[in-house]
Amino acid sequence: MKRSRIVFIGTGAFLLVGSLATAAQSGAETAERRTPAAHAYQNRYAGQRLARVVVKTDEQRRALESSGATVLNCHAGIGRMRVAATDAQIEFLRGRGLDVVVNQPDLQALIDAQRTPRAAGGDPFDDFFLDYHPYDGGTGSITWYLNELAVRYPTLASTFTIGNTPAGRPIRGVRVTSSVVTDKPAVVYFGAEHAREWIGTTIPAYFAHHLLSQYAIDPEIQDLVDNVEFFLIPVFNVEGYEYTWTDERLWRKNRRDNGDGTFGVDINRNWGEGWGGEGSSGVTSSLTYRGTGPFSEIETQRLRDFFIAHPNLRAQLDIHSFTQLILWPYASTPLLPPDQTYYDQVGKAMKSLIAGVHGLTYTAGPIYTTIYPAAGGSVDWTYVQRGVLSYSYECRDTGEFGFELPADQIIPNNEELLPAVLHLSDSDWVRAPIRMEYPDGVPNRMMVGDPTEIDVRIVNQTGTLEPGTAAVHYRFDGGLYSIAPLTPVAGDLYLATIPATSCGSSPEFYFTAETTDLELYSNPRGGAAEPYTAMVLLGMNVVVAEPMSSDPGWTTEGQWAWGIPTGAGTQNHDPTVGATGSQVYGYNLAGNYPNNLPARYLTSTPFDCTARFGVTLRYQRWLGVESNSNFDQATIEVSSNGVNWTPVWSASDTGDAVSDSAWTLHELDISSVADNQPTVYLRWGMGPTDGGLTYPGWNIDDVEILSAYCGNLEGDVNHDGTVDIFDILCVLDGFAGVFVTCAPEDVDLVPCPDGDAAVDIFDILAVLDAFSGDDVCP
Ligand SMILES: [Zn+2]
Repeated sequence: MKRSRIVFIGTGAFLLVGSLATAAQSGAETAERRTPAAHAYQNRYAGQRLARVVVKTDEQRRALESSGATVLNCHAGIGRMRVAATDAQIEFLRGRGLDVVVNQPDLQALIDAQRTPRAAGGDPFDDFFLDYHPYDGGTGSITWYLNELAVRYPTLASTFTIGNTPAGRPIRGVRVTSSVVTDKPAVVYFGAEHAREWIGTTIPAYFAHHLLSQYAIDPEIQDLVDNVEFFLIPVFNVEGYEYTWTDERLWRKNRRDNGDGTFGVDINRNWGEGWGGEGSSGVTSSLTYRGTGPFSEIETQRLRDFFIAHPNLRAQLDIHSFTQLILWPYASTPLLPPDQTYYDQVGKAMKSLIAGVHGLTYTAGPIYTTIYPAAGGSVDWTYVQRGVLSYSYECRDTGEFGFELPADQIIPNNEELLPAVLHLSDSDWVRAPIRMEYPDGVPNRMMVGDPTEIDVRIVNQTGTLEPGTAAVHYRFDGGLYSIAPLTPVAGDLYLATIPATSCGSSPEFYFTAETTDLELYSNPRGGAAEPYTAMVLLGMNVVVAEPMSSDPGWTTEGQWAWGIPTGAGTQNHDPTVGATGSQVYGYNLAGNYPNNLPARYLTSTPFDCTARFGVTLRYQRWLGVESNSNFDQATIEVSSNGVNWTPVWSASDTGDAVSDSAWTLHELDISSVADNQPTVYLRWGMGPTDGGLTYPGWNIDDVEILSAYCGNLEGDVNHDGTVDIFDILCVLDGFAGVFVTCAPEDVDLVPCPDGDAAVDIFDILAVLDAFSGDDVCP
């Protein structure tokens, strides 16, 4: 192996000493880099713990300020604060009534571990993502890796710089694209706008490597690299990042000398859109110091000018850590952006892709409401001023390690973000000349006998819609598609109308439009080959009703219990009665759930959903959970075997704490798991919870399972769309007390409309009438 040696010297500068050629020398280098106390850096956090402090009053905030503990949050105030603190400081805080939970007993050990190569002795290119790396300084550094990519993939990759920092250091990236297509859209993804957020530096580099190494293997990657120009910048805040390696691991800002003894501007508060507003500070020592004016900082000027110089830039990703979030504009106001529908659609898709890899939950939403106001951030400026689809990620984790995310999580974190970054790169906003949005969603159910209307918004991007070309294509039972033009409503809004169809049909549809340049746009992109699908129904039947008035005998863990809630607990407390009747299932009927609770489940008995479709869960909810930022979790999952569970709802998806103050009807489509399954299990999860605030938890009443029916054919008791011998057999079975393929309420046909709670000779006569075409319920 060949590795350059980095020697840290006292002032925070570093020297590149040269190359080492032997394993023995390499070992010496490793030993040197691991030597404790070689530099003041190593001992800055000696004897300190990483802790969470809950600050509830101004008095407690003042106590925190006077404790000497280092607050790591960018806004010190009321709420949960992350701190680095000694035992004496923790004792001081606890003595003043603050709730302190120690997450990590030895902060310095974590910092040292992050700097200790795991890959010593291996190939520095292949092992690059086993470790964090300094910005430059030879083999194994980030800039070395970018150069290696360009050397190894010369036809697809090249290095570039967006300019130099105030100290004259180039801000480097790698550009990935092929020369197959010349005129193409571009994206820019960058990490470490905040210096201490090391995991963010790995995301652009890992993504670059994936694009390059898969280009010849994966046709979808090839298509992307042929048609999109990628600018990938691992370290935007170069000087701040270097400082985290040489002097202060937890440095956040750039290294501007503010002239008053303080250093650093928060460059993610220095952008020109909404500069000076909420969530930024005019105090030079603040972690969110916004600088003396919009774009006062060289770094933000460089990236701004890069956007201006590249009008083909269509998307950006500003990568931070931590708390596992997918964020979009605005950062400076609670108002939703005009393109909220689109941001939400892509954001939720990315969230779902991430969850599909290692099962981790990321919360998705606009910055202002999902984390906090952050005026002067990059996303607002690039979106408002450049029309760029602007997202920000907060990477792993949710607070256990925070900025000190261990290096063994670099690859797992990248593995789960990769499909999300690909999805963003492949989005219509980036790639299509125009795009379509559906403000009310795309329906997956159509009502019998009624045409289905769908609102469509068509937005010009790099192209212009040719009037009269927008259309919906539909078919009901295979065969050829019919085409119906969209009706203009107002501005960029159109109405698609799909005609009425009958029970048992399988509607498929997609949308197309043309630009004035004769480019064809299709949504979904695959058009007829990958259409939207829907089911046809007349209404919903209640299949199962569990009123909770007697003990259903479900399986409980922890403090799950059936009984009468006591009205105890904090925030909006528990109820004192059920939604109907007195009893409910609740997590801790006598008050709040506890801190640091692992997930505890309430699991139902199995329900028979054979021959049911469009299965829906409906229940009454009174829930209190601190689910914002994934602090505490409350979930609902469904299973068809009691072993494999599919999440269908998560409180953290709401982007906020849930704090019900009344019984609330909650309905969830569980058809993808439950349709036509003989054993359907439901479970409600409480936890995991963290060490901060607690809420009253779950209260559940009146659980119902509904299924869609298509009963326009009276006598179609098994809901297959036709009245035939199987319906007659079903009624005869029911008459004999056997309910295998049909439920009692299905075969109880008369008297109309809902039967008489008995399957008798009149029901048999009714199904025979229906079979011969007579009207059973005229
Ligand atoms: Zn950040």
